[in-house]
Amino acid sequence: MGHPVLRRPARPLRPEELTSDRLHRLVADMVDTLHDYGGIGLAAPQVGESVRLAMIEIPGGPTRYGELDHMPLTVCVNPEIEIVDETAAGYWEGCLSIPGLRGFVERPQHIRVAYLDLKGERCEIEARGFLATVFQHEFDHLDGRLFVDRIQDPTRLAFEEEFARYVLSSEDGESVDGDS
Ligand code: ZN
Repeated sequence: MGHPVLRRPARPLRPEELTSDRLHRLVADMVDTLHDYGGIGLAAPQVGESVRLAMIEIPGGPTRYGELDHMPLTVCVNPEIEIVDETAAGYWEGCLSIPGLRGFVERPQHIRVAYLDLKGERCEIEARGFLATVFQHEFDHLDGRLFVDRIQDPTRLAFEEEFARYVLSSEDGESVDGDS
């Protein structure tokens, strides 16, 4: 956080770029980064590339974010979100670009996502609940937005250590998320 690339709207990728070595290297690099840091999502601006590409991968079962539904590695190019239902719910989000912090963010919990995969095929996913939050968090990065911008109650921003000590213990079962 503080690097200008995180605050810049990223540019769409052109179809011919999807087959380029440069893009394949970027994707491989992002997958490594995601796995190295044990994240569940990553957007290209987070590794310094201002292009509209983000990936999400959620391991099934118990994780440090609680019990989550599995989502295989999904790479989204030029994604767009349509909100199906405005009803919002909040999670304590984290971000690889904002290490050490968690913040409570409310977002719509039923969305439809349209994107191109790496072969240039148009794909659509409907996401609810936590997964809807993860997509919105990642795609915000493509518009230069960070989760801290969306915190409505500034008292609900915490260091990881205090979050684990005071928040997790008191808000039993309330989920935690983000790409960190
Ligand atoms: Zn993030």
